[in-house]
Amino acid sequence: MIPFALPVRKIVTVLIVSTTLIVHGCISENEKSSQRLHNYFESIRNNEALLTAFFSEMPKGGDLHNHFSGSVYAETYWNYLLRLRPWFDTVTLAFEYDSVKLTNKKGDYRRYRSATQLIAANKLGDIKQRILQAWSVKDYVDLGIPSHKHFFDTFGKLPSGGWKETGVGLKELQNRAARENVQYLELMLRSVPSDRMITGEERYAASLKLVDYSDTVRLHAVLDSLTAAFRSIDLSADVKAFNEKLLAIHNQYVPDNNAVTIRYQTYVNRRNEPVKFFRDLLTAFEAAQTNTLVTGVNILSPEHGDVSMRDYKLHMYMFRYCSRLYNTVKYSMHAGELTLGLVKPEDLTFHIQDAVYIAGASRIGHGVDMAYESDNSSLLRYMAGQKIAIEINLFSNEFILQVKEDRHPVSLYRKYQVPIVISTDDAGILRSNLVHQYVLLAKRYPQISYTEIKQYIQNSITYSFIKETELKQALQDSLSQKIEKFEEKVLLDQATLTRKAIQ
Ligand SMILES: [Zn+2]
Repeated sequence: MIPFALPVRKIVTVLIVSTTLIVHGCISENEKSSQRLHNYFESIRNNEALLTAFFSEMPKGGDLHNHFSGSVYAETYWNYLLRLRPWFDTVTLAFEYDSVKLTNKKGDYRRYRSATQLIAANKLGDIKQRILQAWSVKDYVDLGIPSHKHFFDTFGKLPSGGWKETGVGLKELQNRAARENVQYLELMLRSVPSDRMITGEERYAASLKLVDYSDTVRLHAVLDSLTAAFRSIDLSADVKAFNEKLLAIHNQYVPDNNAVTIRYQTYVNRRNEPVKFFRDLLTAFEAAQTNTLVTGVNILSPEHGDVSMRDYKLHMYMFRYCSRLYNTVKYSMHAGELTLGLVKPEDLTFHIQDAVYIAGASRIGHGVDMAYESDNSSLLRYMAGQKIAIEINLFSNEFILQVKEDRHPVSLYRKYQVPIVISTDDAGILRSNLVHQYVLLAKRYPQISYTEIKQYIQNSITYSFIKETELKQALQDSLSQKIEKFEEKVLLDQATLTRKAIQ
């Protein structure tokens, strides 16, 4: 509740805007207000500071493409690492907090220093800065390695914590979202942990290699027996343990509140070999079906990796298969996070369409290679008709793929009226936030009107995977009210500033 909401609304009603439709001649007060907002927005479109101030205050609904581990800032990981009393390799920046493993490093051992030793030598600050640079795009210029490699390598360098650290990270993201006027986060949290494996894994792997995936009868026969084998080793026990842990951590650290609601996606790693990939897909779907907090499933890891590319079609057919086993589960898929030069041209022609036509994704993450997809106009029409939303991550695509401005396909999706949502991807590693994405959108694409941007914000709740109908409706209603108040405030500020300028 804004303390001065009532007086502001009264003044605004008198001076500028009325929320009821009062017609003066042909133009209503609402239309006049819309025109004033439009004019103001156009007047700041080329000014990043003014746009940042505008979007910082504007309620932005949800962030639907948001990786938990990549969204927590490197400083938080650093603080966590220090609590473990680590030793740092002062050359490679590797760290170790297990004394046995440290002494096993033999010659390299001599390069390691404890935090205490580094403080005494006045060098801990330097190590911290270098580690923040290694764990994010901080100060990134050209480090002699491709930006996509620097980005994806980051995940392997971050210290991994347990559920408690997950809770602390979730709290950080919830607090940041509240300050940034973001009401909902749909976080790609983690895979369901499981190390159960069936006997005869190699036999199944060989069968999957031989089968023609489009021969769904034969493929499903293999997947049916694989599913039965996994169920016989009680994979559900791992899902149950995951669900209980997630519920406990969620309720302890980030319970639903009026400011920011958090829900989760589980995911599978597309770099895993097929049998393991399928096991993780089964647990991901089962978690999403049995846990209200888990709204959906995703597929992650660099799409241009060797295994990702080799098994792309198989993964799509496996998603399709699981969607029939668990037919209420929704899934968004990273698809088309590729561009010319990163892979062979022919590999740019089918990833989004396979995710849509074969796998049956409800949303697409990135979709950067859309312009290269074969028969992309039919695909775009299909996505628009089926309301398959596209998650646009402008800064991520700029840093990782060097795709930006009019090379980015956001205009293509807009042209065909595919529902658009704006998201961050990995705000921590990219040292970015959701405001930044909207600033880039407004500044780089002048053809996208304020009204459309507002629609994208509303899309971020409409196309969320929230399962609880009442919660979703409440978030939609509250977002509309918050935007209305925000617009009244903008108009009042402008009217006040204009009046002062005249006096
Ligand atoms: Zn992503």
